[in-house]
Parts: sequence; C-alpha cells; structure tokens
Amino acid sequence: MTMTRRGFLSASAALATIPALRRGAWGAAPPPREADIVVIGAGAAGIAAARRIVAANRKVIVVEAASEIGGRCITDTSTFAVPFDRGARWLHNPDSNPMIRLARSAGLDVAAAPLGQTIRIGRRNARAGETEEFLAALVRANRAIDDASRGKLDVPCASALPKDLGDWAGTAEFVLGANATGKDLKDVSAMDKARGVDRSAAIIACRQGLGTLVAKLGEQLPLSLSTPASRIAWSNRDVTVETPSGKIAARAAIITVSSNVLAAGNIKFTPDLPKRYLDAATKLSLGSYDHIALLLPGNPLGMARDDVMIEQSNSTRTALLLANVGGSSLCSIDVAGSFGRDLSAQGEAAMVAFAVEWLTKLFGSDAARAVKKSSATRWNEVPSVLGAMSAATPGAQPSRKILTEPIGCMFLAGEATHDTLWGTVDGAWDSGERAADAALRKIGALKDTEPAPASPVARPRRRAAPARRGPIN
Ligand SMILES: Cc1cc2nc3c(=O)[nH]c(=O)nc-3n(C[C@H](O)[C@H](O)[C@H](O)COP(=O)(O)OP(=O)(O)OC[C@H]3O[C@@H](n4cnc5c(N)ncnc54)[C@H](O)[C@@H]3O)c2cc1C
Repeated sequence: MTMTRRGFLSASAALATIPALRRGAWGAAPPPREADIVVIGAGAAGIAAARRIVAANRKVIVVEAASEIGGRCITDTSTFAVPFDRGARWLHNPDSNPMIRLARSAGLDVAAAPLGQTIRIGRRNARAGETEEFLAALVRANRAIDDASRGKLDVPCASALPKDLGDWAGTAEFVLGANATGKDLKDVSAMDKARGVDRSAAIIACRQGLGTLVAKLGEQLPLSLSTPASRIAWSNRDVTVETPSGKIAARAAIITVSSNVLAAGNIKFTPDLPKRYLDAATKLSLGSYDHIALLLPGNPLGMARDDVMIEQSNSTRTALLLANVGGSSLCSIDVAGSFGRDLSAQGEAAMVAFAVEWLTKLFGSDAARAVKKSSATRWNEVPSVLGAMSAATPGAQPSRKILTEPIGCMFLAGEATHDTLWGTVDGAWDSGERAADAALRKIGALKDTEPAPASPVARPRRRAAPARRGPIN
C-alpha cells in the first residue's frame, strides 16, 4: 500500500449488539436436516454467500455459533444512547464497495466520515509543519514497504522502514502496523501489506452501525443462531455438518470462520483438513484490535464530530482516538498490536484505566473526570472469533490463495481468504460471494460459462486488482 498524504487513518483497522434477533428462522425448532449448501458462520462473508445461494434458487442453511448475526460486525445499541460498533465501524473503497448500496437499499444512512485527523504532541496539537513532516515520513515508510515487497524474498515490514524517520518513527509504525493490521510491523509481511488495497480514499460510516447493516442483510435468510458446527464429515460429493441441534446433510459447505478459529481446531473434520490449509490459517493469524468506549458529555476534549487523533509516540503504548462518534458524546480509544493484546488480556477495567490515563496525559485531568460510562471490547477472548483481522506473517502472503482452493466440496471464505481486501468487511463480503459461486458450480447450479446470479441488490462485479494507491486504513 502506498501512503498518500491525505491522512493517516487508512492504515487503521478499522461498525453491534443488535438485540438477539431470534434463535433462528425456525424459532425453537432445530434447523432442517438437508440443504443444497450449508454455510458455517453468519458474519459478512456468510451472509453474502447465503444471499447469493438464495438468489440462485438453491436451498441454503446458515449455522451460527453466536446468539446474534454479524461476527466481527456487531452494533451495541443498549449500552449507550447511540450505536456503538464493537467491531468494524467504517466502510472503505466507496467506488466499489457493494455494502454502501446495500445499506441505502436497506434504508440505512451512510455518509462520509471522519474528516478531521489531528496529531497530538504532548498537551498540544501538532503545528501544520509538523503534520506535514509526519505525513512525509508516512509516505516514505509506505514506499519503502512497497519497494521491499518487490524483492525476491518477503521481509517483515519493520525491516524495510527508513532508518531516519526520527521522532516520527514510532508513530509511523503504529499507524501502519498495529492500527492498520492489528499487528506490529515486525510481524507483518511486506508483500501482504503492499498487496492490500488502498483504504484511504474515503471512509464511510453507517449512522445506525455497521453491525446493524450486516444483521439487516441477513434478516430474511434461513439461519440458525446459537448453533455451532462441531464436526464436518466431508468428501468430494457431500458433507454432513454436526451441531448440537442435529446433523445437516448438504452437497457443499461454505466455511467462513476466522483464520484463528479454523487454526484452533474448534471444528473437527472427518477426514482431517489437509495440513496445508491449517498451516495457511495459522500464518494468517488475527491481530489484536479493540475499542475502549468512553462517554464524555460536554466535549471536554474540545474536538469536532468524528475527529480522529493520534499522538506522537515512540512507544507501542499508544492508541487512536475517535472523538464524538456521529456527533454524540461517545469517544473510542482504540488499542491494537502487541500492546493492545497485552492490555486486553488484563481485562476491561485495565483497558478503561489505560484510556483514562492516556487522555489525562494528552488533555489534562478534566477529561478523565468527565467519564460517565465505559465499555471495552475484547475480541481475542470471543470464542467464536479469537481476534480482530488477519495479517500475514512474513513469507505467508501466498497462504491467502491456498485458502481459496476447494477442499472436496467445501469452500473457505472470510476476510483472511481475500488477496487484497483482507481485514475488511467488503473483503469478507466479496469472499463470501466468490465461495458461493464456486459451491454453486460444484453442485451444478451454475455453469462455468454462466454469469453468477445477481444477489438481491446487483452490483458491479469486483475482483480487486492489486492496487498501488495509498492507504489510510
Ligand atoms: C475492532 C475491529 C475493528 C474493525 N474495523 C474495521 C473497519 O472499520 N472496516 C472494515 O472494513 N473492517 C474492519 N474490521 C475487520 C472486519 O470486522 C472483518 O474483516 C469482517 O467483519 C470479517 O467478516 P467474516 O465474515 O470474514 O468473519 P466473521 O465476522 O468472524 O464471521 C465468522 C462467523 O463464524 C461464526 N462461527 C465461528 N465458529 C463457528 C462454528 N463452529 N459454527 C458456526 N459459526 C461459527 C462466528 O461467530 C462469526 O459470526 C474490524 C475488526 C475488528 C475486530
């Protein structure tokens, strides 16, 4: 990814607790025993896949381990007066992102955000010249990673960084590493990072929450919540998926669980999953990224709506602030990478304490005194997810392609399987549609030459070409 000078956000990862919608389309009754295709997981990838299968007039069943739809897109609407996106909050790539049109069709409000990006140096904002200096450092760092990615051998992004970034070295590392991928740059493949599509052009937010959107898109689907797949017996002709509510027989399966869930062996396979897939999932492990949400009435930070702030820091013990979310008093302090992982392991109280201490350091103690309510996510501890977003370890970029190869009549999907849009909701969505097309072809519901069925809301087909623009993640 080449950094543009527009800002620093694209590198950052980054939209619900919808009320537990229902146990599933079948109420308290177990899901049906047969389908053409069974989809494991009701996150963005699973919902996209199931919609595609329904559009092709084939019978699908979605089984979801959690008690709600969304996976890593969950909007909590009960803790605060405004929606709090516990996972993904921003849509990227507005020119090609199908979810923006889907959101409008579903009657949700989507709009560009955020505009303001501030850098704090101690208790003051960076001057224009200092901001310029930082953005120049960021561009150089990104270019160096791009250049390194063209070598024969893959290297860690950190080893490619220019050595003369001075006071901005740590900040550049945070923005491009932990904040963009959930991992420190020493743990991230330069080739993988460089192949990632630019996320800087514009950032789109959904007023009702990105989790609300994903849940809405899954509303009409035949799905069963609180129904984890425990074992999948598979061959080249059919699959049987075991769940606590019984077995489901199908002609193909689409598995959308996160790379960490797959690698952890939470689903057993008979016969075993070939080792190369498990190795690939391990090498595409999830980074750590969490939101610490603080309610700060009265705007004690003196920031505008959806202002984003980072600090000049040479330590990994830092964060990104999104102030006054959607014009409310809700502020999110995002922690990520190795520091974020260690902090989240200490629990919610420690996370909130860090956020308060960090704001006090940068804005004084009035800010800390203003906190009226808090909530922190801990994605590494969510058993059905186990982390935030995938980032390839050095040397592991080809692993993404391995995960797209069919295994008998099973097809993997999810953000980790996307070559260029990994770590995003639209990447997950695209991967779900790709896997659904492959599964439909496998069962003869789609001919090789036939165009894929239009999903309920048609969109231009996109197999993202490797972009060489710049990120703001
Ligand atoms: C804090 C955070 C911030 C982020 N910010 C952004 C952002 O701003 N913009 C962006 O584009 N992306 C962002 N992302 C990344 C984005 O959320 C993910 O890339 C995307 O949501 C992944 O979707 P998925 O369908 O691949 O996986 P998931 O959402 O993980 O879906 C997989 C589903 O499988 C289910 N499952 C697991 N095991 C089983 C089982 N045994 N049986 C049945 N079901 C099972 C899970 O419960 C889950 O619902 C963020 C992620 C996090 C955590």
